[in-house]
Amino acid sequence: MFSYAIGVDLGGTNLRIAAVDENGKLLEKLSTATDLTHGRDAVIAEMTQAIRRLLDKFQGQGESRGVGIGVPGIIDMDTGMLRESPNLPGWSEFPVHAEIERRLGIPVMLENDANAACLGEKWLGAGKDYQSMCMLTLGTGVGGGIVLDGKIWHGMNGMAGELGHINVEPEGHPCKCGSRGCVEQYASATAVVRMAREAIAGNLSKELARAAEDAGKEFDSRHVYQLAMKGDAATQQIFRRVGRALGIMLADVVNALNLPIYVIGGGVASAWDAFAPTMMEEIRKRSFVYAATVPEGPRPAKPNKSTLITMAQLGSDAGLYGAAYLPLQRAGVKSGNAKL
Ligand SMILES: [Zn+2]
Repeated sequence: MFSYAIGVDLGGTNLRIAAVDENGKLLEKLSTATDLTHGRDAVIAEMTQAIRRLLDKFQGQGESRGVGIGVPGIIDMDTGMLRESPNLPGWSEFPVHAEIERRLGIPVMLENDANAACLGEKWLGAGKDYQSMCMLTLGTGVGGGIVLDGKIWHGMNGMAGELGHINVEPEGHPCKCGSRGCVEQYASATAVVRMAREAIAGNLSKELARAAEDAGKEFDSRHVYQLAMKGDAATQQIFRRVGRALGIMLADVVNALNLPIYVIGGGVASAWDAFAPTMMEEIRKRSFVYAATVPEGPRPAKPNKSTLITMAQLGSDAGLYGAAYLPLQRAGVKSGNAKL
């Protein structure tokens, strides 16, 4: 009999639920649009019903190790309260953990979605050969997660890893966290669209203006990336801005943590070719720890001992796998062939 767990990725727009076995094999995946208009209770009811369906389906075939749920927002790990969630309006200060367990009648594990994505990449993706890693998720916002010695680093009460709010411009664009100039204001999909609209307002690119007009309300960071790839100078400048912000931020994180691998995922990460050269240039200039661990010139870096900055591998499923891994990890299932 195989072991498996249920992973849930509760997003502001999609609710995805999967059964994953102990080797990381996807057994089944359900996906629905998150209809927030019917309120919190309706979303939780739909989620718990879908979890129950999967548990019933595999009953007798496999041994369930439990349920892990990735939630967008800051979770107080002691109380299971969702402290703040911009993508789930009306869920703040709600005992989401207790309510889900009450409805399901079994224990569940709750985790911040960016932390879950980091754990997923550590289990099965870019970080599977490493024991410790850090991940940035460039989506609507910029999420961050840190895994140390195989486990998510939660900090005192679950709020560690908010790397999206590391400052890269002291007097920069205001951020909804209350600060200004956070990396999220320059490297998220939202920021890419804002910078594109600023370029259009400044008459910097006719192509960009045309693309925005053609796309109307659908205009998003992918349209901006497509133009950058076609060689539009003003649009390429936007992704250099993304790369500079990420590079400044990562230089500090590399200096602070000296981890073997930093992984970048999320929708904007697919524009890697457009922002990575500037990002790497900034990191090399600003982080002496990076420079010391990735020496240029004839002195080769020792294999397995150099700092790696790379793209995520699991795409939008990272959080789903990570959520499923939470109960598997608690049950003692080991990940990958981690040596570092
Ligand atoms: Zn911020």
